[in-house]
Amino acid sequence: MISHVLPTYPRVDLAFERGEGAWLIATNGERYLDFTSGVAVNALGHSHPQVVEAVSEQAKKLIHISNLFRIPEGERLAERLCDMSFADTVFFTNSGAEALECAIKTARKYQSASGAPERYRIVTFEGAFHGRTLATLAAGGQKKHLDGFGPVVDGFDQVPFGDLNAVKRAIGPATAAILIEPVQGEGGVRVVPLSFLRALRALCDERGLLLVFDEVQTGIGRTGDLFAYERTGIAPDIMALAKALGGGFPLGACLATTEAAKGMTAGTHGSTFGGNPLAMAAGNAVLDVVLAPGFLDRVRQNALLFKQRLAELKDRHAAVIAEVRGEGLLIGLRTTIPNGEVVDALRAEKLLTVAAGDNVVRLLPPLIVSDAEIADAVARIDRACDKLAQTKLLKAGAAR
Ligand SMILES: *Cc1c(COP(=O)(O)O)cnc(C)c1O
Repeated sequence: MISHVLPTYPRVDLAFERGEGAWLIATNGERYLDFTSGVAVNALGHSHPQVVEAVSEQAKKLIHISNLFRIPEGERLAERLCDMSFADTVFFTNSGAEALECAIKTARKYQSASGAPERYRIVTFEGAFHGRTLATLAAGGQKKHLDGFGPVVDGFDQVPFGDLNAVKRAIGPATAAILIEPVQGEGGVRVVPLSFLRALRALCDERGLLLVFDEVQTGIGRTGDLFAYERTGIAPDIMALAKALGGGFPLGACLATTEAAKGMTAGTHGSTFGGNPLAMAAGNAVLDVVLAPGFLDRVRQNALLFKQRLAELKDRHAAVIAEVRGEGLLIGLRTTIPNGEVVDALRAEKLLTVAAGDNVVRLLPPLIVSDAEIADAVARIDRACDKLAQTKLLKAGAAR
């Protein structure tokens, strides 16, 4: 018989009772150092006092009201996100995929409102991940995610990662926009060169296309800047956010310029839950912490320290670690043995990590991680690699 929880996840047999900062305490009392952060969601770690306080105070006042009425907490959060970015306007959602759906609709509607309704196609990149709705699956273009779910939603043209000529070839009279993650997260922490992102901006300007960044995983400090696009010196027209935005509370957002959003008038889009007061309180609390003076400087310092330590580990454990890559605290270890075995070995050392594409182990510490916790994680990775290298030697010996 099927499990009562639909078995779409191959879950680890481990459950947690509570969390404190970078630590998770399992139901059996064991303590784990959490470098999954709920897959880049718990940017402030677990049970951050400011998030807990904001959510519990708001819950006592008003949880949900619907978008039939003004939501002052949401107006404040939207204004702050616009002040801190290229954007002029924000639509709030409950997830990353919904933020991308809004981004895709906004881009298509822009072309339609500009007198070019035939322009609806969007260029995307191999290895991308944009969510699990039918349209975002089509945008991601991964066969294993699309198989068996019927006709693929039309309107997406996928090109190889980092191939500018392929992008140019893919653009036609029906193209509306280019959609890209500045750093591919699920795809294996693949950093897109800044020059490539700038070239896409130029191409969009030249051809009348919108540039859409999926910063669902990179946004809100993960890469050391509030948004990953800040390093490029250019800006997108539309940007999707989610994961860290609510600090653990489900919250996504689609940001756009006045021009890009010109088709999104009253009645063109909606969400029952999106932007509810509870989510808005969580989002405002996260920004209070992340925008405090020095916070992002510390993220950058910690990221540098962690990367240096990991580079040393790679030299010492070349039998296990092939490459260290990433931006800020979005770090990937490409491994020589199956990444799942490394994730398991790290979990045996009570360090939690996430597998990603391209045989990568993702290290996603909370942004509030301390120097001592980074040193602790490095020691655990060191021990796990020792054991994995030993097993590999034994296996090679047995095979001979
Ligand atoms: C996680 C993720 C999504 C999907 O977000 P959900 O909240 O799971 O719908 C989309 N894009 C990127 C880059 C992501 O990392």
